[in-house]
Amino acid sequence: MLIIPCPWCGARDESEFAYGGEADIVRPPAEVSDAAWAEYLYVRDNPRGKNRELWFHRDGCFQWFVLERDTATNECLSAHRIDPPGEEG
Ligand SMILES: [Zn+2]
Repeated sequence: MLIIPCPWCGARDESEFAYGGEADIVRPPAEVSDAAWAEYLYVRDNPRGKNRELWFHRDGCFQWFVLERDTATNECLSAHRIDPPGEEG
């Protein structure tokens, strides 16, 4: 069982959340090649160890956040809110 620390609600069971994939993936410009676009859509690093992931609290606050998790041990290292642009603080 994985306990995920939602930045708004606190520690909750993983069954309340939806996984959103790797964090920090940058969308390429519109004039990119088909191959580069396909790589953006489908190719992921899937590293073993410390990883930054997007999670959505589906059965709670309905917020997206970044979770730092060790994929080898399943340990949740930290969770961070995603602030709207210009409101980082
Ligand atoms: Zn929450």
